[in-house]
Amino acid sequence: MRKPFIAANWKMHKNVQESVDFVKAIKDKLPDPQKVEVGIAPQSIALHSMKQAAGKSGLKIIAQNCAAEYSGPYTGEISLRGLRDSGIDYAMLGHIERRRLFNENNKAVNKKVLAAVQMGVTPIICTDEEMVQKEINGEIHYVFSQLMSVLHGISMDQIKNVVISYEPTWAVGAGQHANPTMAEEGCRQIRRTIADVYTYEIADKIRILYGGSVNPANIKKIMGKPDVDGVLIGRASLDVDSFLQMVQHF
Ligand code: PGA
Repeated sequence: MRKPFIAANWKMHKNVQESVDFVKAIKDKLPDPQKVEVGIAPQSIALHSMKQAAGKSGLKIIAQNCAAEYSGPYTGEISLRGLRDSGIDYAMLGHIERRRLFNENNKAVNKKVLAAVQMGVTPIICTDEEMVQKEINGEIHYVFSQLMSVLHGISMDQIKNVVISYEPTWAVGAGQHANPTMAEEGCRQIRRTIADVYTYEIADKIRILYGGSVNPANIKKIMGKPDVDGVLIGRASLDVDSFLQMVQHF
């Protein structure tokens, strides 16, 4: 059974105090962490304080990005060592805004994914719907090309510790209605891509989230779909009541 995962992406909203106050307001109202995982990705200056505020609540704290290096002379970057030593659970990598606004390409994201996996920080890999035809064992398959590029070099063992988020570019931050059927179709295709490239057993275990205009009105239907194991929520996660409405469904 894949454990459902509800992750909030706060982007560059909320300062440190606001982030900590939010955690204090929600931490005793979260669902049982054995049954559902809930995480928040604040901006990097709030990561450490949020982790401390979360205490033993089970709330996961997620970095929105990281460098492809453990530590060293990389001015302005977020080190994997810093994340790991602060107990940060996940690093979200390859988000569409990083690609669109900061020119991150597949190669750069791939380096980060490899480094994060090696350092023991679990990546949440964001990927879009770009598909290509590929010949696998003599058959033509449709595979998610961006996903394949960023997973390059990830072994059978390492892929088990990766979370994938399917985020159609037109649905992120756009207020477009997220259609549950479309979310399911995208997540299902990603699972097939993983099965083609790795194995069915691995594809069956890996968690695939949907991201793009998820809100309290549509979350239940989206997460009710069999291949959607969770969601990545932007705007609708910023308000305490809206956040709790979404996580308390489960
Ligand atoms: P949104 O953002 O929910 O505001 O569309 C989603 C995301 O950035 O992952």
